[in-house]
This record gives sequence, C-alpha cells and structure tokens, in this order.
Amino acid sequence: MTTPRICLITGTSSGIGLATAVAAARAGFTTVATMRDPDRAGPLLDAAERAGVSLDVRRLDVTDADSVTACTEAVARDHGRLDAVVNNAGISNFDPTLEMSTMAALRANLEVNFFGVIAVSRAAMPLLRASGGRLVTIGSVHGVVGQPFNEAYCAAKFAVEGFMESLAPVAAAHGVKVSVVVPGFVRGTSFGIFPDVNRKTVEAASGPYAPTFADYIAWVGGQGWEGAGQQPQDVADVVVDTLRADRPAFRIPTNRWAAEYLDQKLTDRDGGVVGTLARTWIGRPELP
Ligand code: NAP
Repeated sequence: MTTPRICLITGTSSGIGLATAVAAARAGFTTVATMRDPDRAGPLLDAAERAGVSLDVRRLDVTDADSVTACTEAVARDHGRLDAVVNNAGISNFDPTLEMSTMAALRANLEVNFFGVIAVSRAAMPLLRASGGRLVTIGSVHGVVGQPFNEAYCAAKFAVEGFMESLAPVAAAHGVKVSVVVPGFVRGTSFGIFPDVNRKTVEAASGPYAPTFADYIAWVGGQGWEGAGQQPQDVADVVVDTLRADRPAFRIPTNRWAAEYLDQKLTDRDGGVVGTLARTWIGRPELP
C-alpha cells in the first residue's frame, strides 16, 4: 500500500482553487481544501460530491498568521505529513492605483497576493522538506508582463515570480520542487467581480486619468481575446500535472495563448536557463 500524498490548497471557495481541490482529490491526493470561511464551502462540497471525492476542508486566511500556523500544524498532526502546497488564494483590484488609490489599498493587495503566499510557503516548508514535496503557486501572465490600471496586482505577482525563482534552487537542494503556474485569462471565477464597481464608478474615481482609463476600457472591450480564455478546470488540470511531474518546469503557462504572451517578454519561457544559472550559484547545476 502506498502512503497517501497530502496536498494543501489555499482559496478553495471558488474558481481555480475549487476546481484544483476537486482535481487533486480525483488524482489521488488527500486534499486539504482551505478557505477563509469554511461556512462558504457549499459549492466546493457540491463539486466534490459530484466528482465522487471527499475533501478535508479547513480554515486558512493567508493574511492571518495565526490561522496559517494553526492550519499547517493541524495538518502535520492529523495527516502526519504534507507533500504539496498550492498557493492559489488571490485578490484582484482594478483602479488607477498610483495616485487615486490609497496606500492601505495597495498594501492590502500585496498582503494577500504576495505576503500571503510567502506566509503559507514559510509555514509549510519544513513539512515539504521532510516529504521531498513541492510548492506550486498560481502566478499570472501579469506577473511577467505589466498591465495598465492593474499596478498593485502586477507588482504582487512579479514579486511572487521573483521570490519563487530565487527560492527554487535552494529548495531543490533540500528536496522541494518549486513551480509557478501561469494562467492568462480564466473565465467563470469570482476574480475581478466587484458588485459596487463599474466602469462609471471607476472613471469617476479616476481624476486626471479618466480619459486614459476610458481608452483602456475601449481597447480591452475591442479585443476578441481569441484563444485567451480558459476555464478553472483547464488550470486545475495543469496544476495537477505539475503536482505529478517528475521534473516540473519552474514557470508553466496554462495554455498556448499564455505561453505566447510570455514569449513576447521572455526568451527563457519555462525558466530553465535562469534556473541553471541560479543553481550554479549554489554549486549544484545538476539539480532538477
Ligand atoms: P476567485 O474565484 O476570486 O478565487 C480566489 C480565491 O482566493 C477565493 O477562494 C477567495 O476566497 C480566496 N481568498 C481571497 N483572499 C483570501 C485570503 N486572505 N485568505 C485565503 N483565501 C483568500 O479567483 P480565481 O480566478 O480562481 O483566482 C485564483 C488565483 O488565480 C489567484 O491567485 C489569481 O491571481 C490567479 N489568476 C486568475 C486569473 C483569472 O483570469 N481569473 C488569471 C491569472 C491568475 P473568498 O471566497 O473567501 O474571498
């Protein structure tokens, strides 16, 4: 009998996290599906029931240090090990940030999208080292290519890329594989849906940037986004492949559109060249 592999996923109440929790369980992982408010687990549990899998739902708010520690300690206690973490929880914002946003709003974005990822990774790393596990983070094409009017989100996702790229060779030297899964546009999630925010309210709050914001919205609306949009399940499938791969790449675009979008900026799309370079710094070019 093989030992069940334990996978913890953040932000599983909706979207990519929900789909990934079910997909990981279907792939045979004992899945710890975490969320800020387990009272909102209904859609996840319904999807799990439809898929014929069970999940271990637990509370974890990535911005709450006590909940991160409590959850990882409880997983170690109850399951005895942890083989994989998927940092999925994230928030969007869509406002002309530099002048019109507040420092508090800018910090709140990085608190979830960057420091939340780091807090969970930090707490999980001793367990991942013990199991020879892996750390997978949901990045974004906007963690590589900047997007107008989305500065704080892009800054956070760029920070995640930089942090994980720097961590990867050191983690590999201690048996942990680090990857960033990079979607482009994913439809059917709760991302970017703000009931009280619409084009008019954002334009009204845009001050001197209103005409530029209007031009931006017109440009976005005019795009067909041919081949760009994916479903949460498509991304979940890529995450599960990453969890199972013997030698997962560092940077993994989730479809051809995302790959080609990254190519406009990167020639080292999957991070192989930079990874080899970084591993030579620790005298370990042979590491995966
Ligand atoms: P989503 O449906 O809004 O899911 C985001 C999840 O993160 C929700 O479950 C949300 O939980 C959770 N979350 C937010 N703040 C949290 C916190 N402090 N602690 C724990 N969980 C928290 O959006 P999604 O599209 O699936 O996004 C998932 C990831 O994919 C994000 O990292 C996002 O940046 C990335 N991504 C999305 C797209 C896209 O086009 N949708 C593209 C590229 C990358 P609550 O229900 O409690 O708010």
